[in-house]
Amino acid sequence: MTTLRDLKPTKKQNVKEITDELGLRMTNKYDWRFSDESGTYLIFEWLDDMLEKDGEIYFLDQATDWAEKNRSTALTVQINRAYAVASVILQAYYTKAPLNVAIIEGVRRVVGLRETSEAHLRQLDLQKWYPHHRDENGYIVVIRGKPQPDGFGAYEDDQRRAKLTGSPPPPPPSKTVELTRTAIYDRDPQVVKDVKRRAASGCCEFCGKLGFPTPQGTYYLEAHHVIPLNLDGADTVKNVIAICPDDHRRAHFGEDRHELRDRMIWDVLHKLYPDDTEYYEALDLQSAQIRKSEKGPTKLEDVRIDS
Ligand SMILES: [Zn+2]
Ligand SMILES: [Zn+2]
Repeated sequence: MTTLRDLKPTKKQNVKEITDELGLRMTNKYDWRFSDESGTYLIFEWLDDMLEKDGEIYFLDQATDWAEKNRSTALTVQINRAYAVASVILQAYYTKAPLNVAIIEGVRRVVGLRETSEAHLRQLDLQKWYPHHRDENGYIVVIRGKPQPDGFGAYEDDQRRAKLTGSPPPPPPSKTVELTRTAIYDRDPQVVKDVKRRAASGCCEFCGKLGFPTPQGTYYLEAHHVIPLNLDGADTVKNVIAICPDDHRRAHFGEDRHELRDRMIWDVLHKLYPDDTEYYEALDLQSAQIRKSEKGPTKLEDVRIDS
């Protein structure tokens, strides 16, 4: 019999390996879930959120709850990710489809009011998981390796529940349940680590000013993608700069944001990586296109790198 302990991932598959294995298209947008029109669903779940009872291994879909509870303290990316994962589970639930689950193990801790986490191991479970009827608290129960029974009707069940509790009936099942409002992009924790090492002095890589001191004895800086991820910028140290909050906001919202971007490319990053002139010429082109299209980064990435 398989136990929870047997599910511990033994390697760190990257996300692309996992999507390739399932024939899913890997997109730049990575919010812990993937799906396609053919009904292949993939989510990422922490091993320590999984439970075991009477020989069954399962987890409860509490992502929406989590997002509601942590709305004021969690990062926007975390809130969006929770909604995104919940929407895929809901979709599988209503369409009686199996879920592919990649199991994650790593370090989760609370820093200040926020939960920060880092995946150390990540592996696709070869068994499918199935969303079953909700438990007494209304959480969808997702069970490993146990298909839903023949008479399973999620929508009818939800309507019955709604009548009993007097709450509004659920929305009719649609082909795509989309609860996410904002796109989120993968951040490689290694990139942040490397940039942090590069800016170990605590000085803004753009203006040279020392970041303000934090109670932890570090100097506060933020990581900024010079070509933003939502405009096909790469998540690599060669595209990321450690800057003070002033410069960061200016790079996003300043009148001179386009000039700032070009200066970051040539005066900072190219000087750090002088052998990569071709790379920066390509960034320069992208930068010119951003200026022309007047699109640009709107949201701050919200990555502090001093801690
Ligand atoms: Zn600065
Ligand atoms: Zn930024």
